[in-house]
Amino acid sequence: MNSLRTVAIHEAGHAVIAAALGIKVEGIALDSNSGRVRTRCPEQNISEIERSLIVTLAGPIAERLLIGDPSDESVFRGDRKDEIELTAKMAEQVGLFEADLRALDCERRATSLVFAKRKEIQILADRLMLKKVA
Ligand SMILES: [Zn+2]
Repeated sequence: MNSLRTVAIHEAGHAVIAAALGIKVEGIALDSNSGRVRTRCPEQNISEIERSLIVTLAGPIAERLLIGDPSDESVFRGDRKDEIELTAKMAEQVGLFEADLRALDCERRATSLVFAKRKEIQILADRLMLKKVA
């Protein structure tokens, strides 16, 4: 069982980093065990795919950096699946080796973005916990 705060930080991590990368956030919903951020995020070229991967990674990274106590798998099972699919899409365009390097770089970029935006993530998470829908 996850705490509402953990789920809120996770979803706020996706949403704040999406917005920081210029991706339109269409909605956020959560309950105490899982959540979802709806975005409009094209994934045609390599930089769009990378942007999407950074947003995908930002939820779990926000939990690790801001809470330190990661949620159980139910919250980010979908993220793992997206991460694998996006890395495979990158590999189609640039090859496996290059895709692995780019995925590592996306993780580094997601980590520094979450750190830079940690205040915003906390503020949004607090709002989400009150409203449960944004
Ligand atoms: Zn997530």
